[in-house]
Amino acid sequence: MQCIAVKFGGSSLADAEHFKIVKDIMFENRDRRYVVPSAPGRISADDKKVTDMFYECHDLARRGENIDTCFDLIKERYNSIIDGLGLDFDLSDEFVKIKNAILHHAGEDFAASRGEYLSGLVLANYLGFDFIDAAKVIYFKANGTFDAENTNHVLREVLNYHKYAVIPGFYGSMPNGTIKTFSRGGSDITGSIVARASQADSYENWTDVNGFLMADPRIVKDPKLIDIVTYTELRELSYMGAGVLHEESIFPVRFAGIPIKIKNTNDRSAPGTVIVPETTVYDTKQVITGIAGKKGFSVISIEKDMMNSEVGFCRKVLSVLEDLGICFEHLPSGIDTMCVIVNTPDISHYREKIKDEICEAVLPDSISIEDGLALVAVVGRAMVRNRGTAAKVFKAVADAGINIRMIDQGSSEYNIILGVSESDFEKTVNAIYNEFVK
Ligand code: ASP
Repeated sequence: MQCIAVKFGGSSLADAEHFKIVKDIMFENRDRRYVVPSAPGRISADDKKVTDMFYECHDLARRGENIDTCFDLIKERYNSIIDGLGLDFDLSDEFVKIKNAILHHAGEDFAASRGEYLSGLVLANYLGFDFIDAAKVIYFKANGTFDAENTNHVLREVLNYHKYAVIPGFYGSMPNGTIKTFSRGGSDITGSIVARASQADSYENWTDVNGFLMADPRIVKDPKLIDIVTYTELRELSYMGAGVLHEESIFPVRFAGIPIKIKNTNDRSAPGTVIVPETTVYDTKQVITGIAGKKGFSVISIEKDMMNSEVGFCRKVLSVLEDLGICFEHLPSGIDTMCVIVNTPDISHYREKIKDEICEAVLPDSISIEDGLALVAVVGRAMVRNRGTAAKVFKAVADAGINIRMIDQGSSEYNIILGVSESDFEKTVNAIYNEFVK
């Protein structure tokens, strides 16, 4: 028997009708053994996600305000799912315990996690699966980071005793037993952790879209679906803004070599996107796999004659950023110039401090900080050792009348990153897409 770990997002569990589809999917293939649910998502555009309602209850309680109306809406959501499924199952005791805990300040993460917890209880009852509380098997370290090895060890042991089980997404526990959540959208990470621990053959992530698109549909009209993408490509694309999957969810399965399949709960026959390890044999019809990008970057430009012969120059500049806890994104440099690309919001409180401290550290001839840069990443495994891709990218951008302010290509040749003015961002993405895909 194979083992498939499955995660359903909030839109796939928004109401009883979606729970029924989820059951069909689960029973269509009995290898789907471990399932990770999100909290119920929005039913319609003006509706709220259950997780947001729990955050609201926590905020009201923190301010000493009444949470009854907000909490009743949450109860209604679950009760209508239970009724719609015709289950002989009651969450009244759970509701009382959770409400009391929120009123007694059990913490924001506790409140937020209850959406997945209750979703998990209902789903386990509906499917006839065992319920494993994520707090018992997913651990965080005292500093708040995820404890991957301890979790994997314990979860693997526990799963051995359960042929079919539901493990709620999004949360785990701290060493002192309190609940801690991952960042928003973190059920994707739980799914990946469960896939690794169960040594699954694949990790299916069911959502409300067909998969990853080659470009953002808000920028490019009807972009094509990516059928196969490697983990490395996906890291590049997700980091630069391609949504669908939580960026951190790639790591647990990547190291275990488990493919992720993105599937659409509302269109089950759609092929979806498969995310595979680099070693997989694949057929690449397309030179580039996708184009992603983001606005909101700033360039710190430093000039100094003979910079190239000054040992430790870069380190001293980067130490200033490190001491302020600022990550840098790219580091294009010339003989006597060095540019550091950073996220504009990250430096907003430190602009003058950064300039002063860099001046003190390396005595530059000039230093400036310029905002308004957008980065565009052209990503594709087929670019490796393939001639002419960069030429095509630059020609397309030049033909569209766009000035390129920065270029970065790692020697892995997986991506070419262009820096353009924010006002040229959308035009740049379209120019490259049209050149390679249309
Ligand atoms: N329910 C959580 C959120 O809304 C986690 C998730 O759905 O993945 O962020």
